[in-house]
Amino acid sequence: MPRPITATVHTDALRANMARLRAAAPDARVWAVVKANAYGHGIERVFDGLRGADGFALLDLEEAQRVRALGWRGPILLLEGVFEQRDLELCSRLDLWHVVHCGEQIDMLAAHKTKLAHRVFLKMNSGMNRLGFPPGRYRAAWSRLNALPQVDEISLMTHFSDADGPLGIAAQMAVFAAATRDLPGERSLSNSAASLRHPTSAAAAHGHAELQSASDWVRPGVALYGSAPDFPEGSASDWGLAPAMTLASKIIATQELLAGQSVGYGSAFTATAPMRIGIVACGYADGYPRLCPTGTPVLVQGLRTRTLGRVSMDMLSVDLEPLLAAGQQPALGSEVTLWGRASGGALLDIDEVASSAGTLGYELMCALAQRVPVLAAD
Ligand SMILES: *Cc1c(COP(=O)(O)O)cnc(C)c1O
Repeated sequence: MPRPITATVHTDALRANMARLRAAAPDARVWAVVKANAYGHGIERVFDGLRGADGFALLDLEEAQRVRALGWRGPILLLEGVFEQRDLELCSRLDLWHVVHCGEQIDMLAAHKTKLAHRVFLKMNSGMNRLGFPPGRYRAAWSRLNALPQVDEISLMTHFSDADGPLGIAAQMAVFAAATRDLPGERSLSNSAASLRHPTSAAAAHGHAELQSASDWVRPGVALYGSAPDFPEGSASDWGLAPAMTLASKIIATQELLAGQSVGYGSAFTATAPMRIGIVACGYADGYPRLCPTGTPVLVQGLRTRTLGRVSMDMLSVDLEPLLAAGQQPALGSEVTLWGRASGGALLDIDEVASSAGTLGYELMCALAQRVPVLAAD
């Protein structure tokens, strides 16, 4: 029998989250962001749950090929555009839309021989300072692109650095709006955090007229997978999101600790009274963060308890006392939910576990290890 650890990708959750994001921007079209192999879930596994999107946005040509191989004929957007000249040939062949964020990418397009004019998204650096043309050079880039026979329609985009936090989007919105005022073309601005925290839905549109008119396309990623982009201020349940990934395993041994005895490397947890603990087949080689300290939440038989001591490569330890106190009999084979949905329906947010390790749900999803078998569920 293989080790009992598995991950499950929930198609029903992906569909529900997609509906949730649509409701936040009812007039916008939705790019389902599936970069990084659909945030670790697997492009092929999420495709059915996300096929209600208007397009798929990603970074890698290889991932774009996989989306086309699934039979998707709609839009696909390369969020960083092309990396070298010959990437444009695949863009022509697969009819990929691509971001243009720098002058070199315009040079490449100008030198590209194609019968099919390309749909491009011209990116402005409105304050994030990673990719994009500064506002003062945006119009010139637009004019250059507009003059190229290789270019069909030009859409306008930018990316927010602080949509999840107190700085918000107002300053970047103002920069973008001022620099694009009389340029034609569709607009795309919002990621998950902006879509949820600054929705353009009718009920919430008050005060968001400018964002509404600039939201032809929204670009949610992490929220589609059921993680709150602004945890702990917001949580998945606050936002009405359902976990799309469950990481589950089983208890493979139990131990009785006496007061003064420890468990695991470095004796990082010591019992102060006799207690029963469970050893779980899950470690950092499965993608569970080693930095999770004693006290990280975990579900055993659907009941919330905590991890104990250090996470090792293949195992971690959990406190069984809360289960015993509730009259349960945890034993070898008992279900353990590291994050996601327990079989009885109890939930544990990936964001809670991530925050325990000082990181984000994004990183945990993306770090699910190759060796964990992934099941698909409706
Ligand atoms: C990753 C990415 C997104 C999605 O971001 P989330 O925070 O996961 O919603 C949107 N736009 C761009 C340009 C991205 O790179």
